[in-house]
Amino acid sequence: MDYHALKEDIIEYSKTIGIDKIGFTSASTFEEMKVRLITQQKLNYQSGFEEKDIEKRVNPSLLLDKPKSIISIALAYPSKMKERVVSKKGERRGIFCRASWGTDYHIVLKDRLKKLEDYIQERIPDALCKSMVDTGELVDRAVAQRAGIGWSGKNCAIITPEFGSYVYLGEMITNLPLEPDTPMEDQCGTCNKCIDVCPTGALIQGGQLNAQRCIAFQTQTKGFLAEEFREKLGNRIYGCDTCQTVCPKNKGMDFHNHPEMEPDPEIAKPLLQPLLFISNKEFKEKYGHISGSWRGKKPIQRNAIIALAHFKEEGAIGDLITVMKKDPRPVIRGTAAWALGKIGGDESMTALQTANQQEEDQEVLQEIEDALQRLSHSL
Ligand code: SF4
Repeated sequence: MDYHALKEDIIEYSKTIGIDKIGFTSASTFEEMKVRLITQQKLNYQSGFEEKDIEKRVNPSLLLDKPKSIISIALAYPSKMKERVVSKKGERRGIFCRASWGTDYHIVLKDRLKKLEDYIQERIPDALCKSMVDTGELVDRAVAQRAGIGWSGKNCAIITPEFGSYVYLGEMITNLPLEPDTPMEDQCGTCNKCIDVCPTGALIQGGQLNAQRCIAFQTQTKGFLAEEFREKLGNRIYGCDTCQTVCPKNKGMDFHNHPEMEPDPEIAKPLLQPLLFISNKEFKEKYGHISGSWRGKKPIQRNAIIALAHFKEEGAIGDLITVMKKDPRPVIRGTAAWALGKIGGDESMTALQTANQQEEDQEVLQEIEDALQRLSHSL
C-alpha cells in the first residue's frame, strides 16, 4: 500500500466533504499533555466534564488496537452574524457564545469524520478507525497542535493562521501508518491580551486554564452561581468568547463555509424574559439542536435572570417576582431574589419582604435576606 498516496487522497477527499483543514500525527502518547493534565488535576483546574482517566486522554493505544496515526480535522465557524436581531426598547437579549451558533458542532463534525471513515474503509476494508469530537477521551487541542493544525495559544485555543481560533476540532485514530505533519511554531510571542482581559483571571501564563474560574464553564453549572461570577457574567447565557474576540490573530476572521453553522439570531441572541417561563418541550424544540442546550434549560434560565439584573431591567421586575414566588427550583427562585435586589425599586422590596415570610428553602432565604439588606443599604 502506498500510504503517501493514500494520505494525499485523504487530504483531497476531505476538501470535498467540507473539512477546512486536516493534519496528521503519530499515535504516540501525548507526554507533554499528560504532565499538564496531572498538574491541572492537582491544582483542581479541571471542569469535571472531561474524561477522568488521564491515561486514556493521552494514550491512543488504550483506545484502539495497534494505532499508528491520528487524523485531526478543523472546521471554521462564523464569528459574525449575517442577520442581526432587531432591538426594541425594554427587550433585553442574552448571548450564546459562537461555538453554540447553528447546529451542534458535535453532530456536524461527527458527520464529516464518518464520511472520512467510510472513504478510508472503502479503500482499505480492514482499516480500524475511531473518531471523536470534544467528548471523546483524547484532548482535541493536543492532537490538533501536534498534527500541525495550529498552535496552542495562551488563551488555550488552537489558533490556525487561516481561520484564527474560530475552528471546531475533531480527530480519528487509525491503524494506518500515515506520515505525520510538523507542529506549528507558537505565534503568540509577547502578546498577553487574552490573559489581561479574561474577566475572572482564569487564564494563567504558559497556556493553562483554571476551568473552575472560566466563565464559559460557570455558565454550564446548575447550582447557584458564586456572587463573584454573577457580577462578571454580563448578558452571556452560555459560554464566553472574550479571550477569542480580543485575540489579534482573530482579526477579520469570519468564515461562513458551512450552512449548518449559520446562526439564527433569535436563538443565538434570544430575548431573556421568555426564557424564564419556557417549558421543557419548547426549550427542546427551540434550542435542542444547539450545543449550548446540552445541560438543559436550568443553567440558561439562571443565567438569563442574572443577565436581566446586569441590565437593571425594571420591565422584568414583574416576571422576576413571579419566578421568585412560583418556580419550583430553589436555584431559580434564589437567583431571581438576587436579581430583584440588584434592580431594586419599591415593588422589588415589597415582593422580597413577602417572600421572606413565605420561603422555606434555606439557600433561597439567604438570597432573599442578602437582597433585602442590599436594598436597605441603598435607600
Ligand atoms: Fe496569543 Fe495574544 Fe491571541 Fe492570547 S490574545 S491567544 S496571547 S495572540
